[in-house]
This record gives sequence, C-alpha cells and structure tokens, in this order.
Amino acid sequence: MNKLTEICRQYSCDFTFDASLKDYNTFKIGGNCSLLIDIVSAEAALAVLKHIENIGIKHTVIGNGSNIIVPDEGYYGVVLLFKNKFSDITVNGNEMECEAGASLKSACLAALENGLSGLEFAWGIPGTVGGALCMNAGAYHGEMSDAVVSAVCSDKGEPRFIPKSEMALSYRNSVFVPRSDENTAPKILKVTFNLTPKAPEKIEERMNLLLKLRTDKQPLDYPSLGSTFKRPAHDVFAAALIQECGLKGMSIGGAQVSWKHSGFIVNTGGATAKDLLTLAGEVQRIVFEKTGHRLELEPRIIE
Ligand SMILES: Cc1cc2nc3c(=O)[nH]c(=O)nc-3n(C[C@H](O)[C@H](O)[C@H](O)COP(=O)(O)OP(=O)(O)OC[C@H]3O[C@@H](n4cnc5c(N)ncnc54)[C@H](O)[C@@H]3O)c2cc1C
Repeated sequence: MNKLTEICRQYSCDFTFDASLKDYNTFKIGGNCSLLIDIVSAEAALAVLKHIENIGIKHTVIGNGSNIIVPDEGYYGVVLLFKNKFSDITVNGNEMECEAGASLKSACLAALENGLSGLEFAWGIPGTVGGALCMNAGAYHGEMSDAVVSAVCSDKGEPRFIPKSEMALSYRNSVFVPRSDENTAPKILKVTFNLTPKAPEKIEERMNLLLKLRTDKQPLDYPSLGSTFKRPAHDVFAAALIQECGLKGMSIGGAQVSWKHSGFIVNTGGATAKDLLTLAGEVQRIVFEKTGHRLELEPRIIE
C-alpha cells in the first residue's frame, strides 16, 4: 500500500484506511472498506487505477452511492470515490463535458443556464454523471442514452475513448456495470453530452414539473436507493406488483416497503444491509409466488 498512498499524495487525493461507507451511500448502511480514496482528477484516477489494476488489488468506483448496497461486513478492497472533487463541467456549443463525479443536479443546472435541453429527465435523480451513465439512469421517458455521445474511461490505467455505440446502454445496464470480474469493467472519467438549444423557461418548466411528480410520489423523507427492483418486463412495474401482493409497509428491522411508493424500500431508522436484503428477498419470493414475475434488484451489491 506504500506505493498507492505515495500516488495519492502526489495527486493530492485524500485517503482513509478502514473508512466507514455508511455516509457514502444513500441507504446509510454497510461496514468499512480497506481504503477509501477521494479522487480529484482524471490524471489521479488513471495513476491510481494503473497501479492497483497492475498488481491486482480488488477495487471499485462509487459516485453518490445512490444505487449500491454496502454489506454490513464492508468491502475488502479499495473504494475510489468519484464525487465532488472530480466534478468539473464545461459547455462548448451544444456539447457539455462532465467529469464523472459531477452531480446530475449540477449537470442539469449547467444545461439550463446554457439553454440546452436533453437532461430534464435527470432533475431529481440523486446520482453522479458517471454512476448515471453506468446504470443508464432514466425517468419520465428519458434516459442517459438519449443525451450521451461519448465517454473517456480508464482501461487498465490508460485513457480510452468510448463512443455511445460501444456502451451497450440498455434498461439500467451498460458495458460499465461490473460483471464477474469487477476489475475489468471500464471506469468512466468524463462524459460528453450532445444537447439541443431551447428556451431556458421551457427547460425549467419541464424540470419543475418532473420534480413535482417525483416529490408527490416518492418517500424522499427517508434514506433509500430509489427503486429497489428493476421492471420485470417492458410494461410491468415492480411497484404495482408489490402493491398488488399487499406488501406495502412490510418491514424487517429498520427496512420497510414504503407506504408512499411500494417500489421503494426505505430505512426507517437503524436498518442494516441484512435487513434490506432479507426484506428484498421476501418481496421477491412473495411476488414470484403470487404473480409469477421475478424481481431483480436494481442496486448493485458492492462485495
Ligand atoms: C430517491 C432516489 C431516487 C432515484 N430515482 C431514480 C430514477 O428516477 N431513475 C434512475 O434510473 N435511478 C434513480 N435512482 C437510482 C440512482 O440515483 C441512479 O442509478 C444514479 O444514477 C446512480 O448514481 P450514483 O453516482 O449514485 O452511482 P453509485 O450508486 O455510486 O454507483 C452505481 C453503480 O455505478 C458504478 N459507478 C459509479 N460511478 C462510476 C464511474 N465513474 N465509472 C464506472 N462505474 C461507476 C458503481 O460501481 C455502481 O456499480 C434513485 C435513487 C434514489 C435514492
């Protein structure tokens, strides 16, 4: 680890050994990771990734932690945080380039300020641009694949340009989602969007409308990970199935199927990852028994 901490110091990245991940995910659960590195730039990310991938250290990248489940036992490896310190945004004509750690909120505001339309759907999604591209986040008939044109990623510590055509973006999925060997998934450093000029008042009107729909429907007073399950089929909604099975309000420990939106499991206080996963498992079992639909978890378990 000496060489790794030397690289962090060289690039002015803060790092913490045995760091709690509870404050780095929006469900507020989970144990510690071996080392947390707060990445400040693409150059720093490349240098760190080159080193840890060369010597085979287990690692993962997180953004705002709004779609990950951190086990109570924690994560035995290095977590690279791509967030506030790695979040520059530049606008050039209709193109907007965001560092991976930029929040969707700041990306939406930058687009609005520049009279550029295309990201309104993302207003209110509490992720980073990198996390959102990895998950192909979407809402209200829009998704990342509609606006993105390319990204720069780390491929074993070397920068690689990836056009949209090579991202395999589909419903909450992409080439960036780690499969069996996490170390082989490309890590997103920068994302370029192609947006469309539009009157800022119109853009803002749409953003306000979508935010209102969100706040009216979603249990935003409690920690959550958004939708706990993916849609099991194109026109079948997990929330509707869960409601139909009478599971609203079902709880295990501090984890509860939200009364306000049955697609969300919320942390009503002191929930553990085990509470969340046990409850999610029960929901999956009952929904399958009663409806024949298999629900798949949307957030990724970091393990
Ligand atoms: C209240 C609430 C509402 C939500 N509403 C929506 C919604 O409407 N639509 C929707 O799609 N989602 C929604 N979500 C889920 C979540 O906000 C999105 O998936 C978001 O885009 C995840 O971004 P993140 O930065 O938090 O990613 P994280 O949770 O940190 O990570 C998610 C995944 O992306 C990977 N990742 C993160 N950054 C990078 C990177 N730079 N390079 C490579 N991989 C990376 C991680 O390893 C992990 O596998 C909601 C969540 C909450 C809590």
